[in-house]
Amino acid sequence: MKKESNVLDAVVVGAGFGGLYAIKRLTDAGFRLQAFESGDGVGGTWYWNRYPGARVDLECWDYSYSFSPELQDEWDWPERYPTSSELRKYLNHVADHFDLRRHIQFNTRVESAVFDERENLWVVTTSDGKTTKARFFVPATGVLSVPKPPEIPGIESFRGESYHTGRWPHHDVDFSNKRVGVIGTGSSGIQVIQALAGKCKHLSVFQRTAVYVVPAKNHPLTPEMRERVRATYAERRAVSRLTRFGIAVPFPVESALDATPEERRKKYENAWENSQLLGFRMCYGDILSNEEANDTVAEFIRGRIRETVKSPEIAEKLMPRGFPFGTKRPCLGDTYYSVYNRPDVTLVDLKATPIERIVPDGIVTSEGLQQLDCLIYATGYDALTGALTHIDVRGIGGRQLADKWASGAKTYLGLVTSGFPNLFTVTGPGSPGPLANMSMSIEQHVDWITACMVHMRERGIRRIDADHQAEEGWMQHVQDVVSKTLYMKANSWYIGANVPGKAHVFLPYLGGHGTYRKKCDDIAAAGYPGFVLTTNGEAQVETSSETIGDAA
Ligand code: NAP
Repeated sequence: MKKESNVLDAVVVGAGFGGLYAIKRLTDAGFRLQAFESGDGVGGTWYWNRYPGARVDLECWDYSYSFSPELQDEWDWPERYPTSSELRKYLNHVADHFDLRRHIQFNTRVESAVFDERENLWVVTTSDGKTTKARFFVPATGVLSVPKPPEIPGIESFRGESYHTGRWPHHDVDFSNKRVGVIGTGSSGIQVIQALAGKCKHLSVFQRTAVYVVPAKNHPLTPEMRERVRATYAERRAVSRLTRFGIAVPFPVESALDATPEERRKKYENAWENSQLLGFRMCYGDILSNEEANDTVAEFIRGRIRETVKSPEIAEKLMPRGFPFGTKRPCLGDTYYSVYNRPDVTLVDLKATPIERIVPDGIVTSEGLQQLDCLIYATGYDALTGALTHIDVRGIGGRQLADKWASGAKTYLGLVTSGFPNLFTVTGPGSPGPLANMSMSIEQHVDWITACMVHMRERGIRRIDADHQAEEGWMQHVQDVVSKTLYMKANSWYIGANVPGKAHVFLPYLGGHGTYRKKCDDIAAAGYPGFVLTTNGEAQVETSSETIGDAA
């Protein structure tokens, strides 16, 4: 690719797992780039999520980069599930070790990215008022990075401290002697609730939907444990690349309904005792696709809640019902249910007593005022699309990405969205991203994007776009796959149900990480069918719909 002095090869957005790896791979491949990060340090999700109890829910040997055996060997994880601060330490180490910081401009938000059709380049405007031109725009902005505050009247009137889990301050917050309210019981809420129970004067949990919480069984790693992991890293990663969830456990084929109740009980007890996030989903092959099979897990977990929570009335309120297990991301927590046995923790069931408004002194529900000194919003994110639609991204004909995606995000393979050439979405909608091991999904995407950019450079191709028909075919395939599962039975952030006015479309690809990786690789090897590659204004490669069908 010809290099003009003021036109870079790429602008990368974000300095989390995705952005750092994109910088590493693209610069290794000889591309000149500039990365922008709105925070003042690296970490992405882990830069912003500093709330008490924040830690990853995948084991460290899966949730870490696999591209560098040297990095794997030299890094010592202290615990099975690293905390947010440990993950920041790791990502800072990665940035230093591979000398990535010099490519990143911190404290700088990308405000707009406009495609110049004549020149085939992106004009990126940042919060410092500058513009940067680049052939490719690579937003590695994360799938859960735009916090969504709740729509509750009076929110601005609250006199005490208030924080969103996804925008936690960098200083320590003193909760002792404070009456704290937590709104939200997803993964973030479950972690913060466990961390604050007993550490504040009183904790009130405002629960709208009870979720399935399975034990984390977190523990420190001994040197012997770490050595065992190191010895099997290569094999573990190789297997993980082929599996459904991007971890080294193959997906089972047996049905829960073919097992006897006693066999199921044993399996579920084992999953409960030796759990990891995916433990229950990996017990049988039909937990996520057959409601009767799914009920066997749901009822087992409800039984554990009954056993743990002393008050039957509170236990009943904590029992998840009305959506199948696993269709909202299950949460991890060793002490979650037992915190409700404490006299200084109150569960407010918003289904029975909804919030009416927030007032200067606290929260008013239909039952009256709960006085609070501090409010924590664990109310989630404008997931999967929010980070991109919050940037003014304009493609061919000046069309806004937010406008194109208003009725549901569309991409081809979760990598390119038609009408927005030379823009690669790292773990974008239509890819497995959050439904698999995120760090592995990121590596797979960035590797593919880098190889595609090299392919274009070598052939003088100046523009890549998604073929409209291929995109429609891919998104139909995404919907066809989810329709064979139970996922549409939950109002989850996977379908945008948590953001009022957002189109309800299931966006992650459920076909599995290994299957998806193979599809992406096959398409690259076949010369990129489904994409339109253009050299000097002439469309060079366009695929037939037959090929697209095969690809899907
Ligand atoms: P979330 O799963 O979307 O949960 C948001 C919670 O806030 C839900 O309980 C929701 O209730 C509640 N809520 C939202 N608006 C509300 C309102 N107006 N009134 C009352 N309640 C309201 O968000 P999250 O907990 O931040 O987790 C998001 C995702 O981030 C997770 O699924 C996971 O993928 C990731 N995450 C991972 C970790 C980890 O690795 N350990 C930690 C945190 C987050 P409804 O369910 O009724 O909508």
